[in-house]
Amino acid sequence: MSAREVDFSAATAPDHRMDPLDTSAAKSMRGRRTPRCPGCWLPTALCLCAELPRLAVRTRVVVLMHRREAVTSSNTGRIAARVLEGSSVRVRGGDRAIDPEPLPGGRRLVLFPAAEARLLTPDDGAGDGVVLLVPDGTWAQARRLLRRDAMFEGAEIVTLPPAGPSRYGLRRHAREGSVCTLEAIGRALGVLEGEAIEARLAEVLDRFVARSQRARKGRVED
Ligand SMILES: [Zn+2]
Repeated sequence: MSAREVDFSAATAPDHRMDPLDTSAAKSMRGRRTPRCPGCWLPTALCLCAELPRLAVRTRVVVLMHRREAVTSSNTGRIAARVLEGSSVRVRGGDRAIDPEPLPGGRRLVLFPAAEARLLTPDDGAGDGVVLLVPDGTWAQARRLLRRDAMFEGAEIVTLPPAGPSRYGLRRHAREGSVCTLEAIGRALGVLEGEAIEARLAEVLDRFVARSQRARKGRVED
């Protein structure tokens, strides 16, 4: 069993992550012959990009994607970065660890369910907002990034308050309290900026899940 994404929930121990993708589906979703949209990574015939909203937020979200995660179709971090104004994706790990582009200025928080993390609160979102660093990859990959990447220096580690079950239906072993990256970002923004933005991101996730399931059923990638 392998886990692809960090489980952001405070309610679940980090070493009890779910296996996010059905293996056969994962294989077909990663089929190399299928032309994929570089924006949403869905098969181009099912590209969602034109239907995605662009949402204004105070928080500058930076998705730190492990390079292996960058070629995974189930990845939702890139969708979050596409939808949220002021957000970006940085690919980390391997040779690309050095990022010439500086981070946006401001107080840095890392969304990560570490033992030493404290709960994210609405006060964190006051004022000009924060830079929210979101590691996206397996827990081990994210842990390694946290230890080694200079980007995290001086950043405070925060985690989400426990919430309801995940809406992310692309996973076989979804556990209560487990959420995907887009959902974790949505919940964090819900805490920082209010329910409305969280609801909009939930809609985006529902669309992405529905489209991904269509891609699998229709075997568009074969
Ligand atoms: Zn697309």
